[in-house]
Amino acid sequence: MINFQYTRATDVADAVRQIAADPAAKFIAGGTNLIDLMKEDVERPSRLIDISQLPLNTVEETADGGLRIGALVPNSDLAYHPLIAQRYPMLASAILAGASAQLRNMASTGGNLLQRTRCYYFYDTATPCNKREPGSGCSAIAGLNRMHAILGASEACIATHPSDMCVALAALDAKVHVDGPAGAHAIALPDFHRLPENTPQRDTNLEPNEIVTAVELPARGFATNYTYLKIRDRLSYAFALVSVAAALELEGDTIKEARLALGGVAHKPWRDPSVEAALRGQSAGQSTFTRAADLLLHDAKGFEHNAFKIGLAPRHHPRTDPGGDRHPAVTVQ
Ligand SMILES: Cc1cc2nc3c(=O)[nH]c(=O)nc-3n(C[C@H](O)[C@H](O)[C@H](O)COP(=O)(O)OP(=O)(O)OC[C@H]3O[C@@H](n4cnc5c(N)ncnc54)[C@H](O)[C@@H]3O)c2cc1C
Ligand code: SF4
Repeated sequence: MINFQYTRATDVADAVRQIAADPAAKFIAGGTNLIDLMKEDVERPSRLIDISQLPLNTVEETADGGLRIGALVPNSDLAYHPLIAQRYPMLASAILAGASAQLRNMASTGGNLLQRTRCYYFYDTATPCNKREPGSGCSAIAGLNRMHAILGASEACIATHPSDMCVALAALDAKVHVDGPAGAHAIALPDFHRLPENTPQRDTNLEPNEIVTAVELPARGFATNYTYLKIRDRLSYAFALVSVAAALELEGDTIKEARLALGGVAHKPWRDPSVEAALRGQSAGQSTFTRAADLLLHDAKGFEHNAFKIGLAPRHHPRTDPGGDRHPAVTVQ
């Protein structure tokens, strides 16, 4: 039996005060990840600070034409929100590719950003794991590593970030708004999650005494040519082996702007702006996309059970249908 206290935050300032006063405390939102981790004895918070009643559950338009999504907006509400469906359909697709309807009803936007890896050894307290217990070793490197990273891994950890939503948010250039004892500030989504390096116990650049209050989307939503494609071991209710969020703005067949982010391949959504820059001005076709995929996967390194991902990821080719519906824009060959 693990003893812990339970308190409810009355507003954001109170939530920040409570977490700053108790470094071993954790916020709880939908509880779909944290409670599982507590049941497995992976997380042992001294106190659960319930933030589920805070007024962070709205989607609002911003002055510059974007949207501000409260951290407590449930994944289902977000995916089906009319402004998301119309203006950011790639985000809706990514969210709906994740988990199950029941889980999406409970899961919050902030909790989705902060969900932890699905590495089997992270959940198994009988095995060494540097993320769970720094310095104990990584069981996955020489163990079962089918789900693991092919990009950005380190000798300390080869885990992947499991979120679908975050892959689309990375492609869309979202920002994460946070609040804490040092005040409110924003972190660009690509800088929010970290690579494991030698501190795999830290998943993100959020400080332990900070709270996520919102996610902001810029005006550009890539609603015409986009897709989110997820390859997994089952058709639903499974985490990505490889996923891709791909979006294009075209002038005729020429690429004006491109976004490519991969999921299931690294400790964070994998995006390389230099690859997107190389796509600008090119003709939207097979050879261009093949070159971009090669560049994106250039430094990929596989392990015993996951080397297949290096071949799988580039085969998520963008495709445009001449004269027809231009999305979904990606197929697997
Ligand atoms: C069986 C199963 C299958 C799943 N499949 C998928 C899938 O295919 N794709 C996918 O993307 N996800 C999947 N998920 C994960 C699911 O999306 C996450 O569990 C969910 O998004 C977490 O949100 P939550 O509100 O329940 O977070 P919680 O469990 O409440 O919290 C998770 C973490 O976030 C912290 N936290 C929560 N809110 C805040 C905040 N506002 N500020 C700071 N810290 C915060 C908590 O302290 C905790 O550490 C699956 C989950 C399960 C159980
Ligand atoms: S890959 Fe990371 S999470 Fe998995 S066992 Fe190794 S250190 Fe732990």
